[in-house]
Amino acid sequence: MTGPPSSRRILSAELLSIGSELTVGETSDTNAAELARSLTDAGVTVGRITALPDRLEVVADAFATALGRVDLVVSTGGLGPTPDDLTREAIAKVWGETPVVDPDLEQWLRDLWARRDIPFPEANLKQAWRIPSGEPLPNPNGTAPGWFVAGADGRIAIALPGPPREMRPMWADHALPRLRTRGLGADVAVRTYRLMGIGESQVAEILGESMLRNTNPEVATYARAEAVDVRISALSHSDPGGIRTAEALVEDAAAMVRARLSAYIWAEGDQTWAGAIGARFAQRGWRLGLVEIGTGGQVMHLFGDVDWIALAEARPDDAAIEGEPESTLADIAHAIRQRAGAEVGLAVRARERGGDTAVSVAVVTDDSEHRETRRAFLGGSHGRTRAALTAAGVLFTVLRDAAD
Ligand code: ATP
Ligand code: MG
Repeated sequence: MTGPPSSRRILSAELLSIGSELTVGETSDTNAAELARSLTDAGVTVGRITALPDRLEVVADAFATALGRVDLVVSTGGLGPTPDDLTREAIAKVWGETPVVDPDLEQWLRDLWARRDIPFPEANLKQAWRIPSGEPLPNPNGTAPGWFVAGADGRIAIALPGPPREMRPMWADHALPRLRTRGLGADVAVRTYRLMGIGESQVAEILGESMLRNTNPEVATYARAEAVDVRISALSHSDPGGIRTAEALVEDAAAMVRARLSAYIWAEGDQTWAGAIGARFAQRGWRLGLVEIGTGGQVMHLFGDVDWIALAEARPDDAAIEGEPESTLADIAHAIRQRAGAEVGLAVRARERGGDTAVSVAVVTDDSEHRETRRAFLGGSHGRTRAALTAAGVLFTVLRDAAD
């Protein structure tokens, strides 16, 4: 156990995003997403995310009910100087405490204005408020300090400013460290496998309902643009048989996932296509010469500015090679390989076909030639993006199999 004896370990949280601009749809709530990710990584279960208008009774009620359910409530927004910034008032009301002006904060605020030679607007004095149960969190990027408020039972409320560039450092540098000393999160382990060439529903079918319904370890699938991700997570738990660590629970499930899906796995964690392919090139000290045709440069866009591409060219669709066999594309791949002085040549061509996109790929080395045509869903820019992903998948597979 860490932290003072009166503290409770923080295992559950809710997030409140405060501001009428959110509830009328003027601003989208990125703060809560970032905080949810951070808390989840720390082993805290986020039970709810709520957006609220700038109304005192609504915000106070939300704090009170959330604190009745979880160990930690984190809000963003409503810390400004104007009458519609009501987060401090709401928390004070819930705690039954009266805010007082903190002399150090007042001095800090007045100095900010004095330095700019502007008279201090008295409305800003409420940014110097604190309540007896709370301590202010410094804000080096704005005028609104945050609040860290602890109840006698160890429940915590944290108020952060709305602007993300103020919220982020206050959370990382001041709120998280305070939470950690109190004991933050359960012992968690997470592993993510990234899959290609298979749809989410097919993955679900192969993994089976019982695995996907399990809660510890939890196995979940996510269809993303560049991959279907299988995310395995677990919390350590003890039962009459002894303690099962999170890591051991995840490894058990991971072994089953690998046994059933290994042919489709191209990466782990948050690795990108450029990262996964780059690692294969780095292994051998190889480089790539690339030509893409009719893809709008999407292959280069996917790979980005990487040191394993020796030479890359994007060409508009060339009607002259329309109807010619795939060997033409292999010739193009050989030519760019030679011109680039690279070990591998890649030629990709995308053509719209009946609302979809036909993707031809040729990957060549000094002594091998791989050709393949696949159909990517949709045409237009969606189809071109998927064509690039298809090309990445083919290139990755060739590099992987060449190693075996
Ligand atoms: P300020 O002192 O700047 O008034 P504040 O704590 O009162 O800070 P708000 O007035 O609620 O914050 O919001 C200020 C700005 O921060 C908003 O206009 C918006 O651009 C951004 N913002 C607020 N809440 C969020 C959110 N949940 N996600 C992303 N951006 C947000
Ligand atoms: Mg404001």
